[in-house]
Amino acid sequence: MIRANDNYNKLKASYLFSDIAKKVDEYQQKNPGAQIIRLGIGDVTRALVPAVIKGFHQGVDEMANDATFRGYGPEQGYDFLRQTIAKNDFQDRGADISADEIFVSDGAKCDTGNFQELFATDIKLAIPDPVYPVYLDTNVMAGRTGEFEDGRYNGIVYMDCLKENNFLPRLPDESVDLIYLCFPNNPTGSTATKAELKVWVDYAKENKALILFDAAYEAFIREEPLPRSIYEIEGAKEVAVEFRSFSKTAGFTGTRCGFTVVPKECMVFNSKGEKIFLHAMWNRRHTTKFNGVSYPVQKAAQAVYSEEGKVQVKQQIDDYMNNADIIRKTVASLGFDYVGGKNSPYIWVDGKDRDSWDFFDLLLTKAGVVCTPGAGFGKCGRQYIRISAFNSLENVILAMDKLKEALTGRSSAK
Ligand SMILES: *Cc1c(COP(=O)(O)O)cnc(C)c1O
Repeated sequence: MIRANDNYNKLKASYLFSDIAKKVDEYQQKNPGAQIIRLGIGDVTRALVPAVIKGFHQGVDEMANDATFRGYGPEQGYDFLRQTIAKNDFQDRGADISADEIFVSDGAKCDTGNFQELFATDIKLAIPDPVYPVYLDTNVMAGRTGEFEDGRYNGIVYMDCLKENNFLPRLPDESVDLIYLCFPNNPTGSTATKAELKVWVDYAKENKALILFDAAYEAFIREEPLPRSIYEIEGAKEVAVEFRSFSKTAGFTGTRCGFTVVPKECMVFNSKGEKIFLHAMWNRRHTTKFNGVSYPVQKAAQAVYSEEGKVQVKQQIDDYMNNADIIRKTVASLGFDYVGGKNSPYIWVDGKDRDSWDFFDLLLTKAGVVCTPGAGFGKCGRQYIRISAFNSLENVILAMDKLKEALTGRSSAK
């Protein structure tokens, strides 16, 4: 008899985005003329920049010619891209990462989801709450949790990220083996300083633990002393793996490219307590289960780092961050507490005594603005909403005007 993986039964079905879509549809049907502005789903809205399109086209043109055609490439990515990444994202910022420590992939969702395969089933893991759901759900599928009870899976050490601790996870009281961190954070938009990350690196060293560091939003960091990579912290190479993505950095959500950094020093331990180097393990996994990112996409990704590419991508992110400024100022002027929006495209707004779905309904029905209810990211999100800066300036201005009007009865439109 073919038997199912029972762990899938433990998964709490995620209806978040379908529930949102349902509510938006209902509202639209009842109010056919109403304009709806979507500041909900974390997807970019702007086209790929011209430099990236040029690189992409060059790659496609090479595929059209026998002399330059490429078949299977190296699973880990072409050397031209790995070298470019190592130099620009790491070496130029003082982090000693080499090209062969970079594994190019089709995105950070797959990598953050797949990486847990390398670890034993009975390890103890610490996950922030609220959180990007992929870290948790992939560990549930792998059987590292008990049942879902009272809003949480048994067997997981949840790190509550609340106002009291500046939306930063605190070191767990019990010893854990695997720690997920994400900065700048999705959904809260919070960031961690070098000193704050150092605490985690030291903890991991002392406890022979490993940090999985998701830096998908590093390009949104505007305050210069903030670290963009965990490898800017001394000693991190032994205890941390870093995930990056071109999705939010350069609008690649539909193009698909990211990478994972596994330093050669980074280690785990076998059941005898002997050191095992993760680089060899991930290399084995990646080359066995993945056949590389398409050549034109890797050419497009390389173009992100060209002189013109850097300028154009920065302009695009500056535009999104200008939206974030407008959102932050509006929610502050309406008397809400918030975090994020300074080094991240997300603004995490405190509804105080409001439940996040009530807050969502209020914004939708009074202002026609779609946000994401914080409850979708974990128990600690139950009184928050996430507003995203991924939209056009015009739409963000309009959404904020409608929000002001809905909540104060005054319009700022001239
Ligand atoms: C968007 C996002 C990613 C990137 O996903 P891709 O698969 O590269 O598109 C990774 N982590 C977080 C927290 C994200 O929000």
